[in-house]
Amino acid sequence: MLRTLAVTLALGLSTAGAAQQAAPASAPSPAPAASAASAAPALIYVHAGQLLDRPGAPPRGATTVIVRDGMVAELRDGFVAPPPGARLVDLSQRFVLPGLIDLHVHLWGIGGDPLRERLTRLNTDSADDLMTAVTNARRTLEAGFTTVRDLGGDPRGIRALRDAVERGDVAGPTIVNAGSMISVTGGHGDGGNGLAEEWADAVHAHQINVCDGPDDCRRAVRAQVGLGAQVIKFAATGGVLSNVAGGLGRAMTPEEMRAIVETAHALGRKATAHSHAADGTRAALEAGVDSIEHGSYLDDEAIRLFKARGAYLVPTEIAPLAALAQARAGALPPAAIPKAEAAAAALHASHRKAWAAGVKFAFGTDSGVSRHGDNATEFAHLVDLGMTPAQAIRSATVAAAELLGRDDLGVIAPGKRADLIAVAGSPLADVRRLEKVAFVMHRGVVAKAE
Ligand SMILES: [Zn+2]
Repeated sequence: MLRTLAVTLALGLSTAGAAQQAAPASAPSPAPAASAASAAPALIYVHAGQLLDRPGAPPRGATTVIVRDGMVAELRDGFVAPPPGARLVDLSQRFVLPGLIDLHVHLWGIGGDPLRERLTRLNTDSADDLMTAVTNARRTLEAGFTTVRDLGGDPRGIRALRDAVERGDVAGPTIVNAGSMISVTGGHGDGGNGLAEEWADAVHAHQINVCDGPDDCRRAVRAQVGLGAQVIKFAATGGVLSNVAGGLGRAMTPEEMRAIVETAHALGRKATAHSHAADGTRAALEAGVDSIEHGSYLDDEAIRLFKARGAYLVPTEIAPLAALAQARAGALPPAAIPKAEAAAAALHASHRKAWAAGVKFAFGTDSGVSRHGDNATEFAHLVDLGMTPAQAIRSATVAAAELLGRDDLGVIAPGKRADLIAVAGSPLADVRRLEKVAFVMHRGVVAKAE
């Protein structure tokens, strides 16, 4: 009951919710009688008209991709007829590439419609939110994104969704989950911001993702790991959508950031920082984060630190544009409007400079701010920053897999996961072709076909 209350009162902000101490890292679920994965034919021959097997390198011509038990077994030149009992997937008129990876989504919540979210919040339960998350996951998969990093939502709900996808019970992308974003009191991830007193009290009594001081922030990391988090996200600075007029400046101390990153790394998790202001980004990079989300304001020193530390920038170009449109339409609280304007004005120019300077980019959209399923509209903005279409695709495959630390994703090669998508025509000539994905295979299971 308390959990439902806290989640209901959070008014759209992520909240840890749980009153009790954390459950085991991945609460086990009963095994399904037959998963979608096990129901799929064990052997599939995919005829690809063109195949971008290793984004960054030139595509191959006609190729047969042989998929066995959800993994790529072999690539052969030309179209090879399948043996008896094997299934043929005919993409001979299509351009085939690895399943896309979005490193920044929020599957929890309505997504892209903050006014509706606020109006319905008091009449929806955590169970309703989970149903919405299931729909968001399916939309994301059908848009060609076979792996996502969920960077903030109900930790138990997203963990359950992650495991249901993994079992093959629910159609969705593979989820790498952060649980709730770690934040200081009054910061971007404090679910009590701007709420009336009795509701703020209820949220503050139960949220475990808010911390003040290094020791408390170590506790907060451990609490998210205890709830099943596979990556740790923290708010180094203020954020656009939180209902607090604190601006986009640094919110956490360097000591707090170091404590978070050290604890995450010691527990085998990567750490990523939500950060807008340059001093927040610099402090997070000095603390050793693996990536920065947004990075709206980047000065020369921040860019130097990115390169020196080998950290990635996750650009989320479409997020401030979506937030600004919502703010101007009156869908966001007044505190968010100047922040949306400031972030939208700064982000593109900062990223243009960072890309030209050689900073590593890994694809992420912050979908949930924008609508789920529109993730691929990010690509055109990346090309506008100065990337070639090939480089933009590489950021959402090879580079994203590198940042995740997953060597089974991002390319189509023997021994890798059979995550692949197809479009009509080459996205290397027009990257917006990725906005209309014709075919999706996730772990060897066809999730979308024409
Ligand atoms: Zn986000």
